Amino acid sequence: MTDKPLLLLDVDGPLNPYEDRFARLRGYRAHRLKPSGWMSRQDPGSRRYRRGLRVVLHPGHGARLRALPYELAWATTWMHEANEMIAPAVGLPRDLPVIEWPRMFATDPDGLYWKTRTLVEWAAGRPFAWVDDMLTDADVRYVAERHGAPALLLTIHPRRGLRTADFARLRSWAEELGRS
Ligand SMILES: [Mg+2]
Repeated sequence: MTDKPLLLLDVDGPLNPYEDRFARLRGYRAHRLKPSGWMSRQDPGSRRYRRGLRVVLHPGHGARLRALPYELAWATTWMHEANEMIAPAVGLPRDLPVIEWPRMFATDPDGLYWKTRTLVEWAAGRPFAWVDDMLTDADVRYVAERHGAPALLLTIHPRRGLRTADFARLRSWAEELGRS
């Protein structure tokens, strides 16, 4: 346990900019991966099932994330498969903590993103930054009201992924927190 804030990482969107058709021109590499949840939704006889899910990942992102003054954790539908399949491709250790979702993609009665309540509970009062492509103002409000510590919710567009400005924002937020 340290006093560093948590950095809670989504995969699809921030690390895998799945809407960017030209990601490879920006240094991303294309991978074919077989996450169990996705595989379970494919027809076993299909070409998609045989080939796997196309994911683009940047091999330099792990080093940039590790250089930030945070404790990293996964906040993704990939759950433990993020350590197994995503971490080696981006250069992260394969033993990061994982938030386990009791139910994925559930509709929230108050219109919150389905991850938000579980994530706030998991953070247990520790300061956190959260990068995800699905955050809304309702989530920002919920976190501000229910999480008893500073939090930064950073929406990352799935066409752009994490960019230099996002790394800079994450760094300055954590440094400011350290000073306060
Ligand atoms: Mg996502």
